Amino acid sequence: MRVPSVLRLLKFIRKAPRARVHFSRSSVFWRDQYTCQYDGKVYRPNELTIDHVVPKSHGGRSIWENVVTCCTSCNRRKGGRTPDQAGMLLIRPPRRPQGVVNMLFSIGMRTVPDSWLRYLGPQRLAKEGFA
Ligand SMILES: [Zn+2]
Repeated sequence: MRVPSVLRLLKFIRKAPRARVHFSRSSVFWRDQYTCQYDGKVYRPNELTIDHVVPKSHGGRSIWENVVTCCTSCNRRKGGRTPDQAGMLLIRPPRRPQGVVNMLFSIGMRTVPDSWLRYLGPQRLAKEGFA
């Protein structure tokens, strides 16, 4: 079924509860766009793992704000250390998906359609953790 990619709402009722992206390994990969958060390269899912920025052994929790997508090579290099201890930099701090990112995930989209960009704008997308 063909549907328009952009709709103009005449009335918007902000009452519906906000959907939240379920926290999982694949949703963390999705949030980070399959990009290792240390070397900035895109990998296939089977080449990726989840890194606890603050390791579990240092009290780090499995929450959006403490896990990032990481390639197996960077994960081995970092080991059970913090990025500071390992001398590794994150390309961006991990965040809970919000706003448009949440919505895209809930409808199974991995990227923002070009036709949406003029409405969302790069600043808004970056602010919502999707750049
Ligand atoms: Zn890497």
